[in-house]
Amino acid sequence: MKVYYCRDAGFDCKVEIRGENKDEILRLAGLHSHEVHGLKPTGQIKQDMRRLIREEKPQSDEYKMNR
Ligand SMILES: [Zn+2]
Repeated sequence: MKVYYCRDAGFDCKVEIRGENKDEILRLAGLHSHEVHGLKPTGQIKQDMRRLIREEKPQSDEYKMNR
C-alpha cells in the first residue's frame, strides 16, 4: 500500500490518499490540491508529489523508513 500525505506538500491539511497505484494516487492528489488548495498540478508539481508518495508497510518497518 502506498500513501500520500497532503501535509508533506506543505499544506495544513489532514488528507491522506492511499492506493496501490502511484499514478492513481498522483491523479487524486492533483485533483485534491487543485480543488482544495487552488494549486494547479503542473508537471513539476506532480514530480514533487510523486516523491512524496511513501510505501506504507503493515508492520513496524515504517520506523526504519523514516528518513
Ligand atoms: Zn490537502
